[in-house]
Amino acid sequence: MSKDNIPADYDHLKESEWQIRWEEDQVHRFIDDGTRPRYIIDTPPPYPTGSIHIGHVLNWTFIDIIARFMRMKGYDVMFPQGWDCHGLPTEVKVEEIHKIRKNDVPRDEFRNMCIDLTHNNIKQMKSQMQSLGFSQDWTREFVTMTPEYRAKTQLSFLKLYNKNLIYRAVHPVNWCPRCETAIAFAEVDYNENNTKLNYLEFPEVDGDGKVMIATTRPELLSACVAVVVHPEDTRYKDLEGKLVEVPLYKRPVKIITDTNVDPEFGTGAVMICTFGDKTDVSWVNRYGLEIIEAIDETGLMKDVSGKYKGLTIPECKTAIIEDLKTEGCLIKQEPVDQNVGLCWRCKTPIEILVKKQWFVAVKELENQILETSEEIDWIPQHMKIRLQNWTGSMDWDWCISRQRLFATPIPVWYCNDCGKVYLPAPEYLPVDPSIENPPNQCGCGCNDFTGELDVLDTWMDSSITPMVIAGWPSNNFKNYYPADLRPQGHDIIRTWAFYTILRCKALTNERPFNRIVVNGMVFGEDGHKMSKSRGNVIAPEAVIDEYGADAMRLWSANSVPGSDAPFDWKDVKNGYKFLRKFWNAFRFINMHITDYKMDKTAVLDNLNPMDKWILSKLNHLVSDVTDHLETYNFADARNKIQAFVWHDFCDEYIEAVKYRLYADSEDQQGSKDAARYTLKTVISTSLKLLSPITPHFTDEVNQYLEAGSVSIHKGDWPVPESDLMNDKSEKIGENGVDIIGDIRRFKSAIGRPLNTPIKSATIYTMDTELFNILKELESDITGTTRIKTLKIEIGKPDVQEKVVELTPVMSKIGPEFKKNAPKIVKYLESNDPQEISETIDMNGELLIDGFKITKNHIKSRKEIVGSSGEKVEIFNSEKLDVVLEIVI
Ligand SMILES: [Zn+2]
Ligand SMILES: [Zn+2]
Repeated sequence: MSKDNIPADYDHLKESEWQIRWEEDQVHRFIDDGTRPRYIIDTPPPYPTGSIHIGHVLNWTFIDIIARFMRMKGYDVMFPQGWDCHGLPTEVKVEEIHKIRKNDVPRDEFRNMCIDLTHNNIKQMKSQMQSLGFSQDWTREFVTMTPEYRAKTQLSFLKLYNKNLIYRAVHPVNWCPRCETAIAFAEVDYNENNTKLNYLEFPEVDGDGKVMIATTRPELLSACVAVVVHPEDTRYKDLEGKLVEVPLYKRPVKIITDTNVDPEFGTGAVMICTFGDKTDVSWVNRYGLEIIEAIDETGLMKDVSGKYKGLTIPECKTAIIEDLKTEGCLIKQEPVDQNVGLCWRCKTPIEILVKKQWFVAVKELENQILETSEEIDWIPQHMKIRLQNWTGSMDWDWCISRQRLFATPIPVWYCNDCGKVYLPAPEYLPVDPSIENPPNQCGCGCNDFTGELDVLDTWMDSSITPMVIAGWPSNNFKNYYPADLRPQGHDIIRTWAFYTILRCKALTNERPFNRIVVNGMVFGEDGHKMSKSRGNVIAPEAVIDEYGADAMRLWSANSVPGSDAPFDWKDVKNGYKFLRKFWNAFRFINMHITDYKMDKTAVLDNLNPMDKWILSKLNHLVSDVTDHLETYNFADARNKIQAFVWHDFCDEYIEAVKYRLYADSEDQQGSKDAARYTLKTVISTSLKLLSPITPHFTDEVNQYLEAGSVSIHKGDWPVPESDLMNDKSEKIGENGVDIIGDIRRFKSAIGRPLNTPIKSATIYTMDTELFNILKELESDITGTTRIKTLKIEIGKPDVQEKVVELTPVMSKIGPEFKKNAPKIVKYLESNDPQEISETIDMNGELLIDGFKITKNHIKSRKEIVGSSGEKVEIFNSEKLDVVLEIVI
């Protein structure tokens, strides 16, 4: 790479060359030789949808900045990348692509279709991640659908089962009738909508009394098992314990009382159905009520619903309302708002069904989860409250069995003879009980088994990542556990963070990570959530193609954990412009520093005020940016680097130093070297500070600056040099910037190019401290602004207004003095205009050969002149208490 051959423009298409070189040179490899402290990142394994979205970009840019920063700080960083493969979305996609339902083909065939699709999707997403310059160590990639990973998930199942923290029970579960599977609470989305509240009359069985109940779900009448009222509701005092008849079905049910009934809602009487909602579940448990299953797994009405059997839930609702009207049981209907639970995946309203399912005993672990969450450092802190509020909010344990295919099988068989649960020994894992027999016979001697067909919730795979990346279950996994950092989005606190803390604590008795950094979501430019229907989705590739990954990363870095960030094209373009500004500055500097050998001690005595100023600012920047990155304040880090490079360095310092670079006399060599030392220091330190945010650009510049260096990312993070930090130097330099700025503004106000020389200037101030500072800055001011003679004085300018030209007003002189006019004009033109003017001012007139001349006969042009009598311009400084007197 020739140092003199720097392209005129920075080309972001070179980013891909760097991505290849980093991979070839193993720049991001986790070394693990024990020579450096380890730093382990528990990276989120995304779902392989086939493309990464802009929320991923934000999340991974944060992670990548941390990883690159920590490497330069001397850590051996483990930045793995996993893929959380299993689950419904891929099954649904496969069904779509092949136009089948999962049960149309053998289980194995369907699963292979899912595996193929996932491999392709991973490939695409990996290449997108690489195009953004993310620095994962790809030798540490993990894929949850591989046999190795499945064995770990299954082993974690066995271990929790043996600790009695996993159990199988008949229990109500949230059920999606479209996906035909149980789902966990964390997978239920809630949505407000309008429905009708139906008032139905239940006649008393032995008597004339009637109870009117109000319900939104008349289609569940066949599953009604009781009517419940508040114990203090006087309207129903006499009916407590009596039987009433369910309309249409003519079946008796008991009236019971419970304080959870709201007497203000509807009629104050409620029917309990199995199951209309979660409250029904708690009443059934509390009063030992019978369970009637009215709805099947596919959402169709069952036998008990009588003539409605086989109808869908909405069909049944319409039909039953008609019949209730005909029978005279429907008294009235009124509109009501309701909160409906929907399947997270397909948005179908969920039902509560009673099923034999596998559960993790969350309720038993709640205290441990809360304690562990206290041991973890949460960034930002308030995200911890979200996790703690969620813990304890679930009505029942975590249902982990799913009636799907593409997932880790539950490693369990049931003995057909004694009925016992049979678990394989760990060395036989992974197993698939849906197609294999157990390796040994049952304890009862029987060899006849039924394999579990259900599979595990995908969160069972992904909630052990801190253990898996540490090498669990090998003996030395504790050397790499807990992870140092868990980065993730706030949308998965209830799932990934919650389940990881729960399972890792239960399995290892330790917290899974020391710190969690929670990032926000990305919104569209219109401030709304990105969605296809709104048309506000931005594809990361579109941004990268036009402006490059680094410009996009600069946008990502302009935010902080916990806060949602809107996408902003303007900010991306600003980043793009910034990098080009930096590039041009570097190109200019490079030709001056190419042959310079850095030697701090040699130049220390020759540093001039502007050098000291920029070096002091640079070292404060090093200290600030280090603090900001250590506290994940990416936005402040980015903005301070950008303001420093763009304004202080490019706009001010480089301009103030140019005259020294072109100096060629021997006595100017010391000053020239000091300037070269300062330029090189500022540029190479700024590049290092910027390198975690814009890794490609900084390596592109670095190859010219540091010949022979493999990558800037292999270098050390800069530390502030305290001997160069000085408040007084900063103040002096600031004053220099101000006064040079004043003179530049003056030139542009009078329409002269900035490089026009100025004959002389005097700077006046009444402030002696400022006077001394300006004295120090003398050569920088003259050198930069091209003032030939500069004086700095205490005091005020001694100037006066002087008439420099008189023009006779011929329209008056001609008619009035007729033939004498030429004589008068000649006199006016050949005598001192100032003297003539003074005489007229004093006497009101001037006599020329007896002719009376007044100010009506002349026009005068005045100028300001200085003490030397030369014409001067007076100019006030914008920020400093000084007045400038300038002779152009
Ligand atoms: Zn669904
Ligand atoms: Zn048995």
